[in-house]
Amino acid sequence: MNFSCRRASSWCLIVIATLASLSPLSSARSQAAGTPQKIAATPASPTSTDPTAPTKRMIGGDVAPVRGTVLPKSVQQGALVIGRTHQAATVEFGGRMLRVSPNGLFVFGVDRDEKGPLVVNIKQPGTTILPHRIEVRPRDWPIERVNGAPPKTVNPPPDIAQRIAREQALIVASRKRDDAREDFAQRFVWPVQGRISGRFGNQRIYDGTPKSPHGGMDIAAPNGTAVKSPAGGIVIFAAKDLYLTGGTVLIDHGAGVSSNFLHLSRVDVKVGDRVEQGQIIAAVGATGRATGPHLHWGMHCNGVRVDPLLVLELGK
Ligand SMILES: [Zn+2]
Repeated sequence: MNFSCRRASSWCLIVIATLASLSPLSSARSQAAGTPQKIAATPASPTSTDPTAPTKRMIGGDVAPVRGTVLPKSVQQGALVIGRTHQAATVEFGGRMLRVSPNGLFVFGVDRDEKGPLVVNIKQPGTTILPHRIEVRPRDWPIERVNGAPPKTVNPPPDIAQRIAREQALIVASRKRDDAREDFAQRFVWPVQGRISGRFGNQRIYDGTPKSPHGGMDIAAPNGTAVKSPAGGIVIFAAKDLYLTGGTVLIDHGAGVSSNFLHLSRVDVKVGDRVEQGQIIAAVGATGRATGPHLHWGMHCNGVRVDPLLVLELGK
């Protein structure tokens, strides 16, 4: 679980829609990326004779290419949506301008409770603003009962409130980063192998006390299991012992997309470190509000929560 989960109801599912083959930018991007882990780097795929096939597979639905812009026609609640357009285009979504990467990629999150439809306004050089409409597919959010967490973490004593608020503020502040790296467009890998013991978005009740929806995915694994970075990034937060989340590491994947790893028994990185996909960053633990050893992996996209499981499933 995640005390940052307590605040919001935002989520994004990662729809990795980097339509490599549909865009004239794709070859440039593949060359620039230079890594086989990049989603856009799929020209060797057996389906590459059909330029739309890899795209459909990656985003799990139909896509709508409009004048060189590629976005899914529909997404799930909690999706992270990655689109592609002209690198000099301007992209507006939800009242803010999105960063467009040097390869024309942009990314945004879809809130857990979003009903849609979403509208993304894109203006390419020499054209008028084109609105792209995206339907939102609703999901079920079952109730999850969690029993046996340390009582002092379920109902923290009043004198702890300040500490919790201070720690939360530090985490929120660390997520302000928004730069041009495209680590978010990698095919994410599991940070640890294990059974999913808690799903993103489920309504949580701790020993009878309702809490905010679960902000990430829990993966059960033995204490001390190595935690690997699911994609490249820069460490933006690292602490050994926060009140609710215990050992805590946040990694920024560029363009405002970040991962958080909680309840760690060991932290192997420090703020400012560059980490590559698969690099060991920490070890699984049961610190903070946890009932047993597991990794909580949460994701954010500019303040909106993302479902890591969807990030993993898409792009396969
Ligand atoms: Zn959790």
